[in-house]
Amino acid sequence: MVTMAGEVVDEIVAVAVWLRASDVHFDPVADHLAIRFRIHGKLIDADAVSHLTRTIPRQVVGRLKVLAKLSLAEQRRPQDGQVRLETPHGAVDVRVATMPTVRGERVVARLLPVDTQWRTVASLGLEPAHLHEVRKTAAKGGMILVSGRVGAGKSTTLHAILAERSQAGDSVLTIEDPVERKIDAYSQVEVDDRVGLTFAQGLRTALRQDPDVIMVGEIRDEATAQIAVRAGLLGHLMLSTIHADSVEQVVLRLLELGIDASLLASALQLVIWQTLLPVMCEQCRGYGCGACIGVGLVGRRAVFSLLRADGVVDVIEAVRGKKIRSYSLRSAQSQWRGERRLSVYGVLGTSEQDGGIAVAEQGEMDRTGYGVSPGRSE
Ligand SMILES: [Zn+2]
Repeated sequence: MVTMAGEVVDEIVAVAVWLRASDVHFDPVADHLAIRFRIHGKLIDADAVSHLTRTIPRQVVGRLKVLAKLSLAEQRRPQDGQVRLETPHGAVDVRVATMPTVRGERVVARLLPVDTQWRTVASLGLEPAHLHEVRKTAAKGGMILVSGRVGAGKSTTLHAILAERSQAGDSVLTIEDPVERKIDAYSQVEVDDRVGLTFAQGLRTALRQDPDVIMVGEIRDEATAQIAVRAGLLGHLMLSTIHADSVEQVVLRLLELGIDASLLASALQLVIWQTLLPVMCEQCRGYGCGACIGVGLVGRRAVFSLLRADGVVDVIEAVRGKKIRSYSLRSAQSQWRGERRLSVYGVLGTSEQDGGIAVAEQGEMDRTGYGVSPGRSE
């Protein structure tokens, strides 16, 4: 059974890589598993886009767990692990995450093709003014925060900036959860809660290692935020992500985490907020055809908003002036928005340039696949 389940897993992963899927979902239903692929952000039933016609046995979950070095016996607690697999379409790093549900263990496998290169700052899809701003700030140092939803390409942007500084000969230290891709030129630390190595602890230790550039995966608590701000003030280029709905919300979120406004104003040099917009298939206008393997999309492209240091100061002053700290973030922001126009705050606006740039260049970012579907070239 293991061999058979092994063959099925190999087949599913190979198909997923060929389809440029970013994730594969294995959902327990009745006595088998339902398989879905996430392609260009859209979740698609496997049988709609592939030749995987057979019923997928539940033993496949066990096989995935073995591959990712997870405990087979443990079925009541979520686990995650990873494995590198070779497929006819190239090697892929697979992150396997399990979750117990009332119908059995549900598994999501996130796929990161090994041969995919990180983008350069120039190929992120930033419009020239934005590109200039990012480059200027990255060369200078201080804190740069990237925000946006899950899968919006934040890591891609961070890694592009890291690469630029690394190529200039600077020392790069990252604290990640987990390390998505090992890069020879960087010192990479993986967060491990079991030994107390949190983002905050890792960052504190990193500061003693005298790096030029520090990247911490995410700021999600006050401790990490405080040290990150300190790192920025010390002149390191301090890169991280933070959860927020806009560039202004990033500033408000840090204030709410308890960061001193004047320290924040000196440390935070640039906020980037990004999202990915789907790029429709030109052949079928989104209805689905052979060229887009029925998905209707051929990729996604990034759209950015930037808030410069002067804009950060304006947001802080607006919040202070209104004495609205005690309000919720949402009401604080809407009051502030109502008072003055966004453009006053050094927001460079949203880049939505279209046309002229090949979809493959401009399209997909992050672990989410590629700009052009494999069927398109055939
Ligand atoms: Zn199409």
